[in-house]
Amino acid sequence: MEETLNAVAGESARLAGLVEQYGANNYHPLPIVISKAKGIWVKSPEGKKYLDMLSAYSALNHGHRHPRVMKALAAQAKKVTLTSRAFNNDQLGPWLKELCEFTGYEMAIPMNTGGEAVETAIKIIRKWGYKVKHVPEGQAEIVVCSNNFHGRTTTIVGFSTEPQYKDGFGPFTPGFKVVSYGNIEELRAAMNANTVAFLFEPVQGEAGILVPPAGYLKAAAEICKQHNALFVADEIQTGFCRTGRPFCWMHDGARPDMMIMGKALGGGVLPISAVVSSKAVMGVLNPGDHGSTFGGNPLACAVSREALRVLTEEKLAEKAQELGEYFMQGLRAIKTPHVKEVRGKGLLIGVELHPSSGGARRFCEALMGMGLLCKETHENVIRFAPPLIIGKKEIDWALKRIARALKK
Ligand SMILES: *Cc1c(COP(=O)(O)O)cnc(C)c1O
Repeated sequence: MEETLNAVAGESARLAGLVEQYGANNYHPLPIVISKAKGIWVKSPEGKKYLDMLSAYSALNHGHRHPRVMKALAAQAKKVTLTSRAFNNDQLGPWLKELCEFTGYEMAIPMNTGGEAVETAIKIIRKWGYKVKHVPEGQAEIVVCSNNFHGRTTTIVGFSTEPQYKDGFGPFTPGFKVVSYGNIEELRAAMNANTVAFLFEPVQGEAGILVPPAGYLKAAAEICKQHNALFVADEIQTGFCRTGRPFCWMHDGARPDMMIMGKALGGGVLPISAVVSSKAVMGVLNPGDHGSTFGGNPLACAVSREALRVLTEEKLAEKAQELGEYFMQGLRAIKTPHVKEVRGKGLLIGVELHPSSGGARRFCEALMGMGLLCKETHENVIRFAPPLIIGKKEIDWALKRIARALKK
């Protein structure tokens, strides 16, 4: 630890010190400061270059400052940036239409952050449960998964199974039931007449890149249908081509009744999130039921429209699929006593280390020293999630360093 801290040179040390002195202590960043970025590369104030293999937890699928997205940002900044929803703006309508076309859903609602979009989904799900399914008032139940990560609001952490996420933040919102992720019989047993939805991540990113068993999502969708409950995917981290498909559920063909998006929807430039669903479900919302001052602002909408076009035109889903397989093959070929399993989908990859290997953090710090940025998730998993614009050559560059780090 001391050694890596000392490696941070003058200006970086000063800037990191300011965060430590004046910032709430709710993060434990690697000891690096970034002052410039382009594509898959970032630079420190001292000019040291790093390959970004975290991509802001998959918000940077387009890479840093994608030229087309930056152009859309600059052009819209000269026109109008914020109107609130008290008035219409000329970007919101086209963005809604294009997002519905991209996702294949009938209606969308704009928010800003992922957590907000999950909260929005919960409100719509519950209202649908009372007004359409006719669940008795106050009785609606949403089934969620063990090891879930859906954000940090008080309602969302209330149904987390991670003790630290909840410790000291209660009392919590009732109405959630937890089942083991990947266990179809537990899900079946949890359903009852008051169940309004099953909320899940198609791959659990924060939990350590956990991929459910083949057929799980399809069977879960079928159970939801039998019980007239909504099948709701949180695609905030897995969406927008990250896993080798436009959305991760497409691997299994288990189409959600509702989908929650965020992160890469803003092209790595601005926060924007959304929920999409059918008219029948989204139609439960009336003026005044829900809202957001910045939600649907024309600057974020213009950026997001271009971000969506880039995903399609640069074939980033196909690239993520192909390069993800190549990267995982390369990782599996590394001869090391530390690796227990390499898993993932597309370019969302987890390398799980044996508990005896002393934790993933020290490997992330070693890789940082070699110019490669990644982050541990939980104790023993290293997550590799580079921008989807990465090439084979840069993956080879990374594999060489990962092999060297894992041999230590
Ligand atoms: C990041 C994330 C969220 C929360 O998004 P924020 O923008 O940080 O609020 C929710 N769900 C999943 C699956 C995520 O990865």
